[in-house]
Amino acid sequence: MSKRTFSIGGVHPHDNKMSRECALEQLPLAPTVYISVAQHIGAPAVPVVAVGDKVKVGQVIAEPGGFVSTFIHSSVSGTVKSIGPRADLAGKPSSHIEIAVEGDEWAEGIDTTDTLVTEIPSDNKAIIEKIRRGGVVGLGGATVPTHVKLSPPPGSKCERVIINGCECEPYLTSDYRTLLEKGDKVVVGAAILRQVMGNVPCTIAIEENKPEAIAHIREVIARLGYQGIDVMVMKMMYPQGGEKQLIDAVMHRQVGSGALPISVGAVVQNVCTTLAVYDAVQKNKPIVDNSVTVTGACFPKQANLMVRVGTPLKYIVDYLGGVPESAAKVISGGPMMGRAVANLEAATVKGTGGLLFLTEAETRRQSAGNCIRCGKCADACPMGLEPFLLNKLSKAGDVEALEANAAHDCIECGCCMYSCPAHIPLLDNIRMGKGAALGAIRARAAAAKAAAEAAKK
Ligand code: SF4
Ligand code: SF4
Repeated sequence: MSKRTFSIGGVHPHDNKMSRECALEQLPLAPTVYISVAQHIGAPAVPVVAVGDKVKVGQVIAEPGGFVSTFIHSSVSGTVKSIGPRADLAGKPSSHIEIAVEGDEWAEGIDTTDTLVTEIPSDNKAIIEKIRRGGVVGLGGATVPTHVKLSPPPGSKCERVIINGCECEPYLTSDYRTLLEKGDKVVVGAAILRQVMGNVPCTIAIEENKPEAIAHIREVIARLGYQGIDVMVMKMMYPQGGEKQLIDAVMHRQVGSGALPISVGAVVQNVCTTLAVYDAVQKNKPIVDNSVTVTGACFPKQANLMVRVGTPLKYIVDYLGGVPESAAKVISGGPMMGRAVANLEAATVKGTGGLLFLTEAETRRQSAGNCIRCGKCADACPMGLEPFLLNKLSKAGDVEALEANAAHDCIECGCCMYSCPAHIPLLDNIRMGKGAALGAIRARAAAAKAAAEAAKK
């Protein structure tokens, strides 16, 4: 079996997939959900419900605030209690719609049966509109509205759709369970995506540590008889599921600095996004829930749960027995790219894929020494950057030099920090430098746009 991987950098963290045997399990409904209107990249959605309104599952409660934005739907049936700021997973205030749960009544027109619908509608424009109206966003972490990715700019053409089933982040297993348990729907979703992009070939990329998923998806493709879809076995290597790394591995093409995957003919969608595409197009079902891995060596009950969007984290944790005494840190996502959770009262969003509990010993950082110029961070960087230099420039606040050294291309994978024998918090520092470089780039773009508009007048 030939196994593909990307051409530069990468590391081999232990995969720690302790929850891999835990089947997807429905989390009971929480008494109250808090649904953020800013859970995607782009403009926040605009609420279209008022306090006191009765809503059903799948009903639109907020509409897109721009082209790069999306619909938000109620994940429960009940009464809108409040609309206003609430702390998100990172502790930052953003607007949430609070709904008191009074049942599980679904909006008209949504097919909630489990019957597999394999016949794909022929009107691609109507399919994209269904995906847009279904509030589908990239569920692999980036949360880019999917209809935007499926609408290439003029002059660009998709040559291959890649379904990202790598799940290279240690600990996380929700994509794996989705492939195993909902593989039929994922394959129909993949067939929809390749049709929409012009009947191009579609590759479902899965890492070698998931042989059951590889065999199952191959069997599904053969059974359903779709043409143009194949499974590619990927080497276990982090960050194999990074968009640019995956394109490199599958198509042997490199996406340039600041460019989008479509610039090299690729459209990449995550496994759970592909499932959401199936739901939106074949069942008229918007995103109201998502699969969340709850795990950690100190956590008593590993799980892969189907969780309604807006469920408070505390409710999930209490369902599984509460926070273990030895837990010192909770991360939303995996240990490499995830972010620390500021408080468990925060609610899940569409992109919440995992909750990882770590002990003091697992999170303790060794004190940072001086750089010994070993170059290991640069060898590990999958973006070909020089992390030791970006670290220095970030600490010095040299925005011009950060830009010149492509800090904005950092994908925040953490490979540099993982490899550093001096335990320097490279990613923490580079993240700040990247933010400053991106800020400068955006400010220049905004100034250029304003100048061009002024010149037209
Ligand atoms: S975090 Fe950024 S600089 Fe560090 S290895 Fe990843 S891409 Fe390179
Ligand atoms: S890995 Fe650490 S010690 Fe080695 S060059 Fe990079 S920053 Fe310096």
